[in-house]
Amino acid sequence: MIVVMKPGATQAQIDGVAQIIRDIGLKDHVIKGTDLTVVAVIGDDRKKEGSVLEQADGVDRVMKILAPYKMAAREARPQRSTVSLGGGCVLGGKSVPVIAGPCSVESEEQVFDVARKVKAAGATALRGGAFKPRTNPYSFQGMGEAGLKLLAAAREETGLAVVTEVLTPTEVDLVVEYADCLQIGTRNCQNFKLLEACGKQPKPVMIKRGMSMTIEEYLQAAEYILAEGNEKVILCERGIRTFEDHTRNTLSLSVVPELHHRSHLPVVIDPSQGTGYARLVPDMCRAAVACGADGLIVEVHPDPQHALTDGAQSITPETLEELIASLRRIASAVDREV
Ligand code: PEP
Ligand code: MN
Repeated sequence: MIVVMKPGATQAQIDGVAQIIRDIGLKDHVIKGTDLTVVAVIGDDRKKEGSVLEQADGVDRVMKILAPYKMAAREARPQRSTVSLGGGCVLGGKSVPVIAGPCSVESEEQVFDVARKVKAAGATALRGGAFKPRTNPYSFQGMGEAGLKLLAAAREETGLAVVTEVLTPTEVDLVVEYADCLQIGTRNCQNFKLLEACGKQPKPVMIKRGMSMTIEEYLQAAEYILAEGNEKVILCERGIRTFEDHTRNTLSLSVVPELHHRSHLPVVIDPSQGTGYARLVPDMCRAAVACGADGLIVEVHPDPQHALTDGAQSITPETLEELIASLRRIASAVDREV
């Protein structure tokens, strides 16, 4: 933290600021320039309530220097983190896994059909929601535990790792029994009790960015999981709310290099929620791989016209197969593999 004093701040005001800094257990270092005096705060100030300094006499502004997310920050770990979901699906390394499957688990037939087909197309993990966060209370809410059992059975047959959403802290233990990776949805990204509960269990966690959260808030959400001792955290951008309505959400791919700049955690792109339209999904997948994404999560349905949720944005297994073939060419151009 750096405290910038107002022009003409008196020595008494500068001493007062230095005293507050010492009172909160940190060291002060006064630097007098030709026009302004600044007081540098020495020590890790992230756990201190530095905003009190904004109120001190003679202070113009307080500037934070350290990222408020300590464990998620790039400085914490110079090398990229890799997170393995099992079944050969590793995020953050050279390969760019494709996690594919339906928005929702709908039936045994649907899950097995889609699992076999996405596996044949080259996906290494299976997605599918058993607990669905729905805007409307009368909409299909998911199959619950029965859906989790179907996902686990599909893993048995195909070897695909299972990624599925957990909605509440009380359901974490149940989902952990069946899943290889817990998904925290956009609507729950700041459900701090859920984040803590996911941080206390051992499975990898894919946390989607809240639809109205800044990158800085997002990384602090990821920090909640890391701070509880779970290092297996995967970031997932799924688009944010903007005024633009040609897509369901606005999928800003510049977050991929930006998150890599700020953090060592792997970054996955979800172009299905990100765009809302199946016709846009393949191009956004290709763009995501080109700009360095560490993985893709894509909604695939064998019969999108009859999907119970998110049919408009679900691609078919045939499209996925063509898509993965083209992703392989793009990946090799940017020194990655699909
Ligand atoms: C989903 O993956 O189907 C989903 C509900 O995602 P999000 O939380 O990003 O909307
Ligand atoms: Mn969906």
